[in-house]
Amino acid sequence: MNIKAVQGFKDILPGEAVLWQHIEHKARSIFHRFGFAEIRLPLLEETELFARSIGQTTDIVEKEMYTFVDKGLTLRPEATASLLRAFIEHGLHVQQPVQKLYTMGPMFRHERPQKGRLRQFHQLDAEIIGAPEPAADAELMAMGSMLLAELGLTASLEINSLGCTDCRPAFREQLVTYLRRFAGEMCADCQRRMESNPLRALDCKSQHCKKVVADAPSILDALCPGCRDHFDRVRDYLAFLGVPYSVNRFMVRGLDYYSRTTFEFTTTSLGAQSAVGAGGRYDGLIAQLGGPELPGIGFAMGIERLILLLQQQGELCPAPAAQTEVFVAALGEEAGRYSLALVHLLRRQGLRAAMDHGGRSLKAQMKQAGRLNARFTLIIGDNELADRKAVLRDMAGQSQEDFGLQDSPETCADSLYTLVTNRLPVNERPDCIRRD
Ligand code: ATP
Ligand code: MG
Repeated sequence: MNIKAVQGFKDILPGEAVLWQHIEHKARSIFHRFGFAEIRLPLLEETELFARSIGQTTDIVEKEMYTFVDKGLTLRPEATASLLRAFIEHGLHVQQPVQKLYTMGPMFRHERPQKGRLRQFHQLDAEIIGAPEPAADAELMAMGSMLLAELGLTASLEINSLGCTDCRPAFREQLVTYLRRFAGEMCADCQRRMESNPLRALDCKSQHCKKVVADAPSILDALCPGCRDHFDRVRDYLAFLGVPYSVNRFMVRGLDYYSRTTFEFTTTSLGAQSAVGAGGRYDGLIAQLGGPELPGIGFAMGIERLILLLQQQGELCPAPAAQTEVFVAALGEEAGRYSLALVHLLRRQGLRAAMDHGGRSLKAQMKQAGRLNARFTLIIGDNELADRKAVLRDMAGQSQEDFGLQDSPETCADSLYTLVTNRLPVNERPDCIRRD
């Protein structure tokens, strides 16, 4: 068999999965602190949902979606549209006027795979629905910053405003008039999108386009009084909460549904894939999808990019890697039977216990205990079992002592559990870990 994983789809092996668990755990902890509840969504939706929300002329809808053409279904390329679909379908706003929801999981986009860019990638996604106030924008961005900070990562927050349906059309006209003068100097994509989606030229990566838009009119000068005030207050609250940010008037984001505040968490250490997370306000979208007139704001962070940053910035998972508390090395058939029961009972008590079933030599089993990072190893041979006396080795201290075995593995498990947990640091004891 020579079947390999599909290009852009990646296996996450156990060593890396520990980092994923760390990120997911930290994200949940922070989202819960901010009052967000989890929602779990299907990976497949009607294609129409994405066309109507993300926008027909965006990169995602134009060329990146995995669509089953004959069925009219698409693997979700992002989470907001699905989340709002579920929100509307279940009438969630009836229960509570302001809803804070988060979800995490895989997204699918047919892009050119490279470092930090996959075809199946994963996002942490958080949305606040029903809160039009600028304080909600600031709170959400503060939450993103807190998550990055608690992961030990350095990223910058950039913000912009895209105005609303009152002020954006006039700005769009102003921009098109300006861009038309330089059309010949711009990349093919921007020329093609000049009429359909001219704002995308503002954050085009092509050096030619960058040069052209450097002197383009700024959307921030074109905001209506309502959008101007909203943006000023968002800035004020961010400063008030001590969240560092900078204004980037060229940021437009690749999804059509945004209005007013947009933002990105960026880093200089991931090459071209500089965005770790991004989001914005989408005040008209819920109504546009057939739901109530409610505003919303959300962001998504890419887990693969967080992992790359964790690996680069050296802040590797501070949580204890899965560690074995007790390894039982059994020598001989009777000892093996007794140990099987003992290990099972220790696990039932909450300890991470392991043994080897292969009847290998003591040396091989001690090596295995080392590989499993065991804290203690209990050595039981058939003779020791007969004498009811085993040897308990403290793997860190390299010391060992006799450990009396009782006839019943239950009694033995109880005393071994007490002995071992008393010697573990308080925060690593099973009852502590379980509470976490
Ligand atoms: P980019 O400019 O890098 O293509 P984007 O604007 O398309 O990003 P969003 O749609 O805003 O990204 O998604 C939010 C986050 O999801 C991004 O900041 C990034 O961390 C992550 N992300 C997006 N596309 C991919 C991908 N193909 N592979 C890995 N992560 C991705
Ligand atoms: Mg993209």
